[in-house]
Amino acid sequence: MIFDEYAIKSLIRPVPGFPKEGVTFRDITPLFQSPKGLRMVADSLIQRYIDSPVTHIGAIDARGFLIGSILAYELNRPLVLLRKAGKLPADTIGASYATEYGEATMQMHRDALAGGEQVLLLDDLIATGGTFLAAASLVRQCGASVYEAAAIIDLPDLGGSQLMQDAGIPTYTLCAFA
Ligand code: AMP
Repeated sequence: MIFDEYAIKSLIRPVPGFPKEGVTFRDITPLFQSPKGLRMVADSLIQRYIDSPVTHIGAIDARGFLIGSILAYELNRPLVLLRKAGKLPADTIGASYATEYGEATMQMHRDALAGGEQVLLLDDLIATGGTFLAAASLVRQCGASVYEAAAIIDLPDLGGSQLMQDAGIPTYTLCAFA
C-alpha cells in the first residue's frame, strides 16, 4: 500500500484544550478506527525495519503499545513494555521525566534486556521528547542501544525530536503538525 501522508494526517483529530488549556491533543483514535489508515502506518514501519538490525521492540505506554505489538509480531522480535509507574509487577528500573502536561515516571522490568540489544522504541507522538528520552535512558541503563525512536506524529515546534537527535537518539516520524 502506498503511504499517503495527507490521508494519515486527515485521520488524526485535533482536540483543542485537552487535557488542559493551551494544548491541542492529536487524537489517533480515528486513524486506528480506519483499517486502511492503520495498515498504511503499520506497513510503512514494517518496510522500514524489516531488514534492520533491530533485535527488540520497545513499546511505550499506552498508545505505543498499539503499534508496537503489530511491529513485534510482523518483525518476529521480542516486545518489551515501557510502562507508567506502578503497572509492572516484577522488579523494575525507572526514569522520571516531564511531559507537555505534567511529571511522570517510566518503568521497565529489570530483566527485560540483558545488554547489547538494538531496540526500536515506539510511541504515537513526539512532543517535548521527554517520554522517549526516559525510555532511552532505561534501555541504556541495561547496556542496550536505541536503534531508532519512531512515532506516527512529530510536533517539531516543541523541539522534542531535535532534542532527541542532539542526545544521540535517531528519530523517525511519519508526519508532523507544525
Ligand atoms: P513528550 O514526552 O512531551 O514528547 O510527550 C509525548 C507523550 O505524551 C506521548 O506518549 C503522547 O502520547 C503524549 N502527548 C504529548 N503531547 C500530546 C499531544 N499534543 N497530543 C497527543 N498526545 C500527546
